[in-house]
This record gives sequence, structure tokens and C-alpha cells, in this order.
Amino acid sequence: MEFSFTDHQEEFKASAREFAQLKLNDAVAERDKDNEFSRSGWNACAEFGLQGILVPEEYGGLGLDALYYAAIMEGIGAGCKDNGLVFSVNAHVLTCIIPVLLHGSAELKDAYLPGLVSGELIAANAMTEADSGSDVYTLRTTAHRENDHYLINGSKTFVTNAPVADAFIVYAATKKGGGFFGLSCFLVESNSPGLMVGEKIEKMGLRTSPMSELGFNNCRIPAANLIGEEGAGGILFSSSMEWERGLILAPCLGSMDRLLSDCVHYAHTRKTGSQAIGSHQSISHKLAEMKVRLESSRLSLYKAAWLKTMKKPAALETSLAKLTVSESYIENCRDAMQIYGGYGYMVEYELERELRDALASSLYSGTSEIQKNIISSLLQ
Ligand SMILES: Cc1cc2nc3c(=O)[nH]c(=O)nc-3n(C[C@H](O)[C@H](O)[C@H](O)COP(=O)(O)OP(=O)(O)OC[C@H]3O[C@@H](n4cnc5c(N)ncnc54)[C@H](O)[C@@H]3O)c2cc1C
Repeated sequence: MEFSFTDHQEEFKASAREFAQLKLNDAVAERDKDNEFSRSGWNACAEFGLQGILVPEEYGGLGLDALYYAAIMEGIGAGCKDNGLVFSVNAHVLTCIIPVLLHGSAELKDAYLPGLVSGELIAANAMTEADSGSDVYTLRTTAHRENDHYLINGSKTFVTNAPVADAFIVYAATKKGGGFFGLSCFLVESNSPGLMVGEKIEKMGLRTSPMSELGFNNCRIPAANLIGEEGAGGILFSSSMEWERGLILAPCLGSMDRLLSDCVHYAHTRKTGSQAIGSHQSISHKLAEMKVRLESSRLSLYKAAWLKTMKKPAALETSLAKLTVSESYIENCRDAMQIYGGYGYMVEYELERELRDALASSLYSGTSEIQKNIISSLLQ
């Protein structure tokens, strides 16, 4: 067993951290307040290569694997305080680029991957509906083939990146009754006739990552925009969920590392009476627990990334990683706030924003309860 990144991966991780510190942290508090996505930050990420880490060089990407993705994104999380922007990039890569790359036709790859990698195009993944969230396969949106095009009808909600997206990965029922084997996956351009993009939805956290609803009213798209086979939507969705669950929380490892360093420093320098608060066992144990959660999260996520790199089955390990990292990240944010006392609750210290951002991690990509369902079902 090998428990360390290679020198090359470490170099990428360090330069990602430096890049994020220098280029992505401008006016994060203001943008969080205003619900504002940073297009210049998005372009900078693309220039650095983030959107193309997993994409072959022939489409303009870096042609690297899931372990590199984990290392680079951990570096980004350590340096970047704009968790919303990083979340948007992750959603674009793991739920939009991945299905096109792994299952799209040669024509779709040639037409979209270069723009999705260069930063020119932004993509969004549309699965959730008002009446189907955790029970995704009961969705009601339909797609009906007519000659050389499909007509899509229905609606989607909670679509990350939708207000700024150029392309949508949309799942719809192509067989009556839908279900896992009745779904298909489509690439829908934002200017397709019959597509309506709703107003920005205001969120508690990740406010710099825009989100909205979508409506489809006889939305007409070319039949060539079907990704994979008709009826393969369920398989495509579970494949992209495996990538997402395994890797979307890699930046949170960096955030947890950054929080812990800040807390150690604070515990040594903040005094009550003549004593540093870190000399109280209640505080030093919190630091120890934060470190335990960080290292357990790293092991779990790196194992999932290693399995994806080796092209091995990873349904169990990606759910384990999603559950472990999200719950640990939230717990560490809460501990950090307690260590900082009243200061932690004040906006100026930036911990309350981190906690608001962290809370979403136990909801998106399948809630913690759903991860437990998946894990327990795989134990039988
Ligand atoms: C920040 C954020 C970004 C998102 N981005 C996207 C996106 O880009 N695209 C997209 O399609 N969706 C997106 N979503 C939607 C997300 O995938 C859903 O919110 C999530 O799957 C839960 O669905 P729901 O909100 O309908 O909750 P529900 O399914 O209604 O669940 C409510 C509660 O019941 C529990 N529950 C439900 N069913 C079960 C069960 N069988 N066993 C045990 N407990 C259960 C849940 O765990 C939860 O606690 C996003 C959500 C958030 C918060």
C-alpha cells in the first residue's frame, strides 16, 4: 500500500493552493452577501486547468486521473475561500463533463469538450425535480422522439450553475413510467426553443454558486444530443454520481486543513486570564478530534479516488467518502466556531460562512441518509 502522493502530484497540489490564494479570494464576503458568481474566477480556474484535469489533451485538457483531481482540488480548497465557485467548477466537471466524456458520441465530444475545458462554456446538471429528490428515478420530465429531434416537457429544480449555463445535462423519461431503465440523458443548449431558466434561487450557503429552476415546454433539441443509448440515463446518472460522490468533497479536505491550522494558532494565542485557551483540555481535545476527522476523511476520499483511477468498482467507497467527509467537515466547522468563541460567530472571522457552505455537503449529491442506504444495501 502507498499512502503518499507522488512528488508530481504534491507539486500540483501546492501550486493549486498558491493559485487559489492569489487569484480566487477577491471580495468573497461581498459576493457571498450579493449572491454573485465570479466569471473572472471561473475563467482563471480554466486557465489554470481545473475544468480540464480529467479531460484528454486532444480536447485541451490535462489528461490526468482521479488521484490528481483529488490532490489538486485539495490544494484549491486549502487556498480558496470562495467555496461556491469551487462547487460550481466541481458540478460542471463531475456531473457534466464526465457523462459527455465517458458516454457522448465523437461529434458531441468534439463540439462541446473544448469549450467546457477552456472556460468558454459553463454546464449544469438537471436531475432533481420538485417531486423527486432522493427518489430520483421517479422523475416526471419526459422526452419524446420525433424524427431527427426530441421534445422535452417538464421541470427541474436546484440546478447548480443554471443562471449562467450554456449547456445542460438533462435526464428525462423516454419510456412510459420512466424508472431506472426508462430514462435517457441529453445535452440541451441554453438557447434551445422551449427552455426557460428561472430566477436565481437564494441559498443559505454556497451563495457565490448560482442556482435556478428550469422549465421545458416542448423544448426541441437535435436527436444527436442524446448522450449514450436511449434508456441508458439511469446507468449514466449512477456513473456520474460515483464520480461526484468520490471527488466533489476533495476541496473540503483543504478547507478542513486550513481551518485546523487557524484553530491551532488561535488556541495558542488567545488567552483567558493568563492562560492560552489551548491549555484547556476541552479545547486541545477539540483540536485532536478535528485532526482525526481530517485524516479519516483524507483516507476515505483518497481510496475512492484511487479506485476510480484504477477503473475499479467504487460504489461503496465513493458513498463512504461522501458521508465521511461531509459529516466531518460540518463537525470541524462547528468545533472551529466553538474554539473561536463569540468571535467565530461574527461575519468578519469568516467561520460562519464556512459553516453555511459546509452544511450543504450533507444534502447535495445524495443526502447523508441516502449514502447510509447505499452503504447498507451493499453490505448484504
Ligand atoms: C447546494 C445544493 C446544490 C444542488 N445542486 C443540484 C444540481 O446541480 N442538480 C440537481 O439535479 N440537483 C441538485 N441539488 C438537489 C439535491 O440533489 C437534492 O436536494 C437531494 O438529492 C435531496 O433531495 P430533496 O431536496 O428533494 O430532499 P428529499 O428527497 O425530499 O428528502 C428530505 C429528507 O428525507 C430524507 N429521505 C428521503 N428519502 C429517504 C429514504 N429513502 N431513506 C432515508 N431518508 C430519506 C432525506 O435524506 C432528507 O433528510 C442540489 C442541492 C443542494 C442543497
